[in-house]
Amino acid sequence: MSDRLERLWHEQEGRCFYCDGPTYLPSIETKDQARNRLAIEPGVTGSARLLNQHIATVEHLSRKMVCKFCNCHQGGGRSIEAHKRSILARVAAETHPVNRLVEEYDQGRLSWRPLSGPGPQT
Ligand SMILES: [Zn+2]
Repeated sequence: MSDRLERLWHEQEGRCFYCDGPTYLPSIETKDQARNRLAIEPGVTGSARLLNQHIATVEHLSRKMVCKFCNCHQGGGRSIEAHKRSILARVAAETHPVNRLVEEYDQGRLSWRPLSGPGPQT
């Protein structure tokens, strides 16, 4: 079960199938590493909830690795395409947790390294 999650996680380079946002896989990363990567300040109100929203899960409908936020906002019986549209609409409306990261990653769009090695190239 978790082998499959890990395989999917690597296949998708750590990016959620729906929102394209970064996800946190507890079996390969500590909470501290994840918080650092996801720009979450420990101890701040809501930091545990934020980290929780990025946890990697397997979604039953698409059989892809998706972040917990996208998985929890799955409407019953909707198609993969409909769900993807509704997630992207959330991102566009800035009601998705990944919006917080757009500025942090400073790329003008939702693109980020999976588990960074040396960090951004200079
Ligand atoms: Zn997501």
